Amino acid sequence: MSKDIIENNETKDEEYENYCYLCRRPEHTAGKLIHLPNDIYICADCMQNTFDTFHNSSGMQFMDLTNFDMSQLNMKGAQSIPKSQKIKKKKKEEKKQPELDIKTIPAPHIMKAQLDEYVIGQDYAKKVISVAVYNHYKRVLTDTMDDIEIEKSNMLMIGPTGSGKTYLVKTIARLLNVPLAITDATTLTEAGYIGDDVESVLSKLLAAADNDVERAERGIVFIDEIDKIAKKRNTNSRDVSGESVQQGLLKLLEGAEVEVPVGAGSKNAMVPLTTINTKNILFICGGAFPDIEDIIKARLNKQASIGFRADLKDKYDKDENLLRKVTIEDLREFGMIPEFLGRLPVIYTLDALDQSMMVQILKEPKNAILKQYQKLLSLDEVDLQFDDSAYEAIAEKAMEKKTGARALRAIIEEFMLDIMYQIPRDDSIGRVTITGDYIRGTGAPLIDMRGVLALES
Ligand code: ADP
Repeated sequence: MSKDIIENNETKDEEYENYCYLCRRPEHTAGKLIHLPNDIYICADCMQNTFDTFHNSSGMQFMDLTNFDMSQLNMKGAQSIPKSQKIKKKKKEEKKQPELDIKTIPAPHIMKAQLDEYVIGQDYAKKVISVAVYNHYKRVLTDTMDDIEIEKSNMLMIGPTGSGKTYLVKTIARLLNVPLAITDATTLTEAGYIGDDVESVLSKLLAAADNDVERAERGIVFIDEIDKIAKKRNTNSRDVSGESVQQGLLKLLEGAEVEVPVGAGSKNAMVPLTTINTKNILFICGGAFPDIEDIIKARLNKQASIGFRADLKDKYDKDENLLRKVTIEDLREFGMIPEFLGRLPVIYTLDALDQSMMVQILKEPKNAILKQYQKLLSLDEVDLQFDDSAYEAIAEKAMEKKTGARALRAIIEEFMLDIMYQIPRDDSIGRVTITGDYIRGTGAPLIDMRGVLALES
């Protein structure tokens, strides 16, 4: 290793806090650490405990210990902790410019306009998320907690798979430049059981914030598949991955000081811990809640069949926007506990995507997949075009798969493979037009040669 690299590593190490070798607390919680040979650091409390133990059990005196050559102990120093498990030191001198401040945080209508550039449809959801996120960061950044305490705007998003739930959250976190952690509720279990503890969601957030606690404390946590932790019905065994996880999440959602393992999913003796305050972390939960429509329908039918408002029984069977009528009672009936729902004050739904929205997703977003392929081929000086029938055919195929916009990428990648493989082979090709027939497997793409294109222009 050259000298430069060694120096570079050393300066990088200085950015991280040292840990007590015994209790694994970082310097900012444990206080000043005593530096022993072999790069071992011990906090004053552990040192004292060690003396007490020695003194009580063997009658060994402090003087004996100081004469003891610690370097003979074959202990690996604190430096053996990988960087992914260390906390960055707070920078004292240069006060870091916060990424967001009250003047730069975009107003809801601007935030929504920015979301429009990426996310198609879902107008209602975009509006709600813009307002809630704006209010949340206004509350965080001004820290006005005097007499009127502004409630945290944690959210619950309900919408079918592939309707853009994760995408919406990812886009908003990127626009605001705040760290984002995405976890799957199915991996969580009650502490002590196989699976990740609920604190692991904060470990992920900390990793996304580069182990910078201050930044993590203002981040966003997205918990997907939240419907999978609904209370199990008719079960006699302990519900360790359902109701207990909801219970475990309560304190995180509410705002609490939580001990979080750094760089790992669960607490154990070898993992350093740090404390994160979740007061200003925005939690967004998302789920498809399959079959909740039946619960909504049953409720509406019951209401409608009472008294003078008696109605046709199948009135709601064909209602496509039934999901929008969801209420807290329906969610409780589904198996979410009231305390959990109470901590998610903003509840809204996303619509299932229809074929025309699929076509828009193919054409319009700034980073649309087809635009990415066009860009790639333009580097080879090939003009890639899609005619209208091609857009329709792709959207049609995606609708059949019933996985929302998620199906689009798979379909596109399948037919683009051949194009991306064959085109760079032949220098004379100037333009490729993908047609609906090609997508359906009943025709070939249209190819124009460079010479012909030159003559046309
Ligand atoms: P889910 O609702 O299951 O979380 P995702 O957000 O993961 O679905 O969507 C999968 C992909 O589909 C996204 O990465 C995005 O590219 C695309 N997508 C989904 N919905 C939309 C939308 N409304 N506008 C643009 N792209 C979308």
